[in-house]
Amino acid sequence: MDLKKFITIVPDWPKPGIQFKDITTLMDNGDAYRYATDQIVEYAREKQIDVVVGPEARGFIIGCPVAYSLGVGFAPVRKEGKLPREVARVEYGLEYGKDVLTIHKDAIKPGQRVLITDDLLATGGTIDATIKLVQELGGVVAGIAFLIELSYLDGRDKLDGFDILTLMKY
Ligand code: AMP
Repeated sequence: MDLKKFITIVPDWPKPGIQFKDITTLMDNGDAYRYATDQIVEYAREKQIDVVVGPEARGFIIGCPVAYSLGVGFAPVRKEGKLPREVARVEYGLEYGKDVLTIHKDAIKPGQRVLITDDLLATGGTIDATIKLVQELGGVVAGIAFLIELSYLDGRDKLDGFDILTLMKY
């Protein structure tokens, strides 16, 4: 299936110069959403995944159906102040300023094999921060899966050494 047919490119959103890749037109097509999910599930099966981890909010959209299909758990990575119990936290750089991501400290047991999911790999900053959280809890990042990779932003370089699956490249 040509998944790119289901991605809507919105020019100059949320600001001038950005070609926003809208995945909602893939999600709202049952066949395309299932096909994309199944590709990631197939990849994950070879990696013997114990738990899927994804950053809010689009990492949940990709990761939760994968976890369900694998029969493993899903651990959410969220912005500061959203998770109710003890968390590990990491600061990461944005274009302007900083942001913080958190994960519940008991979400991953040491040695567990983790699949990280998100909708899109741009600069790699979000996933780099997510990897740090997983590793702080003793998890092993066994694979990272995205629907889309913006290869011109070289996010892959930031994630050097990790096994990465992307279903579409721009
Ligand atoms: P990054 O940390 O730079 O890899 O980007 C993180 C997140 O920003 C991605 O998971 C996307 O949700 C969002 N994002 C960045 N660039 C785009 C884009 N051109 N279209 C849609 N989402 C984007």
